[in-house]
Amino acid sequence: MTMPQTITIPKPDDWHLHLRDGDILKAVLPYTAAHFARAVVMPNLKLPVTTTERAIAYRDQITQALSEHMTFAPLMTLYLTDETNPNDLTRGYEDGVLFAAKLYPAGATTNSESGVTEIQNITSILDRLQRLGMPLLIHGEVTDPTVDFFDREAVFIDRVLRPLRRNFPELKIVMEHITTQAAVEYITSESPYGRLGATITPHHLLLNRNALFDGGIQPHHFCLPVLKREKDRQAIILAATSGAGMFFAGTDSAPHLKADKERSHGSGGIFSAPHALATYAEIFDQAGALDRLANFLSTNGPAFYGLPVNAATLTLEKLETPAVPDLKSILTPNGAEIVTFPNETPLSWRVIEKHPL
Ligand SMILES: [Zn+2]
Repeated sequence: MTMPQTITIPKPDDWHLHLRDGDILKAVLPYTAAHFARAVVMPNLKLPVTTTERAIAYRDQITQALSEHMTFAPLMTLYLTDETNPNDLTRGYEDGVLFAAKLYPAGATTNSESGVTEIQNITSILDRLQRLGMPLLIHGEVTDPTVDFFDREAVFIDRVLRPLRRNFPELKIVMEHITTQAAVEYITSESPYGRLGATITPHHLLLNRNALFDGGIQPHHFCLPVLKREKDRQAIILAATSGAGMFFAGTDSAPHLKADKERSHGSGGIFSAPHALATYAEIFDQAGALDRLANFLSTNGPAFYGLPVNAATLTLEKLETPAVPDLKSILTPNGAEIVTFPNETPLSWRVIEKHPL
C-alpha cells in the first residue's frame, strides 16, 4: 500500500469572510474555525457594522459562538457609509477593535444598500485611513445600470480605483475577490508591493460563467461578483498560483439559506467554508503549483498585513480517486439548510481534521 500524498502548511487565514449573525453564525463558524486561524469578517449584516460599538458587539457575538477547543481570531471591519465618523473609525483602529475599513459601492451586493454612493463623499475618511495606515478593503464593482453586469469590475478599475490610487498613493488597498484578467493585469502592473493586494475565492478559480447555466439555471453558482469567462479564470489561476505576494486567499464564503438561493430573485453568495481549502489545493495541484499553496493560503496575507504567520499547521491529503465531499449541506439550529460549495464536484484533496466536527 502506498502512503497518501500529503501537504502540511502553516494554518491558513481567510482574508475575506461572511459569517452573518444569529443562527447562521452559529451554524457556519465551526467550519471556518476548523481550517483558518484568523479571518477578516465582513460587516454587511442586515444592520451593518458602521460603528466601533457595533464592531465590538459583533466580535463578542462571534467569540461567544466559538466552542472551547477553537482558537479562531476574527478581524473586524467597519462598513463605510456616506456618514462614517472619522473619529470613531480612528478610535476603533487605535484601540485594536477595527482591522480594516470596507467600501461597498451602494447596491453592489448583499446588504450594501447603505454603502457609499459616491467615492467623493468619503474623501476625509480616505485621507484618515491613509494617515493611520489602516487598510481599505474594496468590493470593486460599479453599480451603474448602463454597465454590463460582467464588466462591472473592469469598469470599476478605470473609473474608481485608478483615480483613487492617484489621489491616495500611500493608502493600503485590497481589491477583494478579483475575477477578471483586467484586475490581474492592473494589480501586477501597478502594484508597488505592499500597497495593493487582492484576494481570490475558490469558486472563481474552479468555475467559469458557463456553470451558471449548466443543465438549467444554477442558483448555487450565483455569487457577486458573478463568475466570469474562461480566460478570466485562467488569469486568476495564474495569479494565485504564481506565489506573488499581492495575491492571497479570501474565500468570500457567504452563507444564504437554501430557500433564499432557490427562489425568484435568489441571493448571490456561495458557502464554501467547509471545502474551500480542498478546492484551493485541487486548483494548485492541477496547475502543478502545490509548492506555492502555502504562499497563497498562509504567508502572503500575513506579510501584506504585517502579521505573524500562524504557528499551528494544517495538513491536506490527496485521495486515491477524486470524490464528491460527503458534506453537501449544513443545518442551522432551526433546521434551515445551507448548501455547501462545490457540492457535486469531485475533489482529490481533503483536510485532515484535528477535531471531527
Ligand atoms: Zn464578500
